[in-house]
Amino acid sequence: MTPRTALTIAGSDSGGGAGIQADLRTFFAHGVHGLVALTAVTVQNSLGVQGFTEIPADVVTAQIKAVASDMGVNAAKTGMLATAEIIRAVAKTLDEVEVGPFVVDPVAASMTGDPLLREDALEAIRTELFPRATLITPNLDEVRLLTGVQVVDAASQRAAAEALLEFGSRWVLVKGGHMQGTAECVDLLSDGREYLELTGPRYETENTHGGGDTLASAITASLAKGASVPDAVAAGKKFIERCVAEGYPLGAGVGPVSPFWVLDKS
Ligand code: PLP
Repeated sequence: MTPRTALTIAGSDSGGGAGIQADLRTFFAHGVHGLVALTAVTVQNSLGVQGFTEIPADVVTAQIKAVASDMGVNAAKTGMLATAEIIRAVAKTLDEVEVGPFVVDPVAASMTGDPLLREDALEAIRTELFPRATLITPNLDEVRLLTGVQVVDAASQRAAAEALLEFGSRWVLVKGGHMQGTAECVDLLSDGREYLELTGPRYETENTHGGGDTLASAITASLAKGASVPDAVAAGKKFIERCVAEGYPLGAGVGPVSPFWVLDKS
């Protein structure tokens, strides 16, 4: 039987913990065939991103068109988009091809603080991609960069959701994982009418590299299979919780979240 398909428009992580490497194995774990439009090649390890080279924007466009026109795309997500030119090219292409539900993970920097976006690109994500998005999934650092809102509690998390929805996405997930001093990890999902709090455990671990990518691709995989946004986000949160709980050290810096628990059928 032909599986459903999901497209990741994102960068490569030479360390294998984040980027398209995380997206593809998350799609696989969900029984979804992964498609790729590569945007950039990063040079990185557990200590940080040493640099990156972007793929020409017309090659990004051609990758999307090649798979969409032939194989069909049931849902798509973006990760690292590198430049404003690539972002504009992706936005234009999405007006020409059908990709189903569209998740924008507004990746701006790595956990080690290294930029994954050239400076003018954040504005392009806001104006070009958010209005086309079914769901956007910023973490708290990205919320601050995008809106100026510093999320410190439930009230500011809600204010951030309202500010982000102004940019035109259907839904926003304000991820609370990076909030200081909270015993639980509370994410807020909203379409401006409903405000759904998703609460989960907070794990004491350093090894969370690739967590944002993995969550966004888990959600995208469920959307590709026809789930509603609230159901896809709830399932994605359960998935990433297991990945974070079993994250492992690799290298001298930040280790990756673990996808291996899906193999344990005993
Ligand atoms: N490298 C690439 C190619 C990514 O797409 C991302 C996140 O989206 C990262 C690195 C950073 O991952 P993290 O913030 O988990 O370190």
